[in-house]
Amino acid sequence: MSNSYDVVVIGAGPAGYVAAIRAAQLGLSTACIEKWVDQAGKTSLGGTCLNVGCIPSKALLDSSQKYLETRNDLAIHGIKVEGIAFDVSAMLDRKNKIVSQLTGGISGLFKANGVTLLPGTGMLKAGKKVVITSADGSSEEVSAGNVIIAAGSVPVDIPSAPVDGDLIIDSTGALELTEVPPRLGVIGAGVIGLELGSVWNRLGAEVVVLEALEEFLPAVDQQIAKDAAKTFKKQGLDIRLGTRVTGTEKSDGKVIVTYSNRDGEHQETFDKLVVAVGRKPQSSDLLAADCGVNLDERGFIFVNDFCETEVAGVYAVGDVVRGPMLAHKGSEEGVMVAERIAGKKAQLNYECIPSVVYTHPEIAWVGNTEQELKSDGVNYKSGVFPFAASGRAMAANDTGGMVKILADVETDRILGCHVIGPSAADLAQQAVIAMEFGASTEDLALTVFGHPTLSEAVHEAALAVDGHAIHIANRKPRGK
Ligand code: FAD
Ligand code: AMP
Repeated sequence: MSNSYDVVVIGAGPAGYVAAIRAAQLGLSTACIEKWVDQAGKTSLGGTCLNVGCIPSKALLDSSQKYLETRNDLAIHGIKVEGIAFDVSAMLDRKNKIVSQLTGGISGLFKANGVTLLPGTGMLKAGKKVVITSADGSSEEVSAGNVIIAAGSVPVDIPSAPVDGDLIIDSTGALELTEVPPRLGVIGAGVIGLELGSVWNRLGAEVVVLEALEEFLPAVDQQIAKDAAKTFKKQGLDIRLGTRVTGTEKSDGKVIVTYSNRDGEHQETFDKLVVAVGRKPQSSDLLAADCGVNLDERGFIFVNDFCETEVAGVYAVGDVVRGPMLAHKGSEEGVMVAERIAGKKAQLNYECIPSVVYTHPEIAWVGNTEQELKSDGVNYKSGVFPFAASGRAMAANDTGGMVKILADVETDRILGCHVIGPSAADLAQQAVIAMEFGASTEDLALTVFGHPTLSEAVHEAALAVDGHAIHIANRKPRGK
């Protein structure tokens, strides 16, 4: 086996495995180093996303939502069900099967595309050499024309709530609970905290989410965030803002959390506590002192818009670099880098990366929020269409939420789209495509949408921007 490759990728998460596959497709000899091993000791590809992130969380979100709908929402359709019960271990088995099917699928794709898998932990040295240390301690060195670092991220720890894997768990532990904790605490009302809190809340846990910030979902358009806060409250998620966890104590198989808010110090007792306070780049033990690649002050590998580090031929992509920690952002960076190595003129439009919170209702958005446009002094206009006025949403008995479109007053160009409600992720994706093509709201208005579809809400929101939505009373004057 050769120990020299055109491209060596460190990490086989969605950033790294996609970069490796694309590089190999482009005819570059490519190897990918991965250290993740599953419970059976076998190398597992797919990184955080497939093993303990996007996919297993969505599997449990879907199972728990199906249970909830079966229990609460079938009667209105005239369906009677009795004796509804759930089986947590069957839900976990289903999730684990999906994970192994997908991680195994990446191995198959590596074989099909001719990517060489190098199991072990990679460390970049000077001169684009990478040392790979195997689980048995043996090591091998490979040299590369180009190195793509895609080492990803790990959960942030806070000293006030050290994860013990039993009473105090991180997101990975929250995907593995074998029974529903009667009382579950979650630190952090970010995307991960809300999704995992929702899973266990739907299955009957009393869930309290403790969030240090005063504002709920600050990155989300605040009209949408307010709607979400109201709905989550109705669902029984007890979200306490302005609440900083300052300590934890374990006693009698429970965890006592001390937190402070504007009224002083308080305590709550939980059966389990999930720490979901964010993720940090996995950039330690990855770079030899003389490799020349630098980190920024928060530990992210320092790169430019093309994911180039300060060393020619060394790139970094995904969660280990600046930007939103999202699987698709890393994947597209991986494709861009592989294509640029192969001599293509690829680039990534960082303005058009969608974000999704997979709660129910789903929340999804792309582009600017209204609060951002206000603070930037942009002259914008907006159109909102509520799902309560959508025939398709009514038929599905899922009428909460809205589509909101923001556009530039002078050019009519779409600046942002924000959705809360059924299939929000897929609806916001339509705006992503429109924005990628530089569309105006008039372009969307002139597009024919099938009826009855949830997508019609995107059409109507675009029409509402200039006051001519058909299926709601417009706020704007008539005559345009
Ligand atoms: P990772 O997926 O973290 O992969 C990095 C890989 O590199 C790992 O396999 C690691 O073992 C390997 N590695 C690291 N260092 C070395 C080394 N020195 N040598 C060899 N291998 C190494 N994102 C979304 O877009 N949508 C979602 O719905 C979503 N849900 C999430 C839910 C949860 C619970 C969590 C935790 C995350 C979620 N994310 C979601 C975030 C998403 O998982 C990450 O953004 C994504 O996995 C980042 O991809 P990556 O390839 O950069 O890093
Ligand atoms: P995200 O980074 O989106 O996953 O969100 C993590 C959330 O955890 C942020 O909103 C933080 O404000 C919150 N957070 C961090 N530390 C604490 C703490 N000690 N107590 C409560 N919330 C916290």
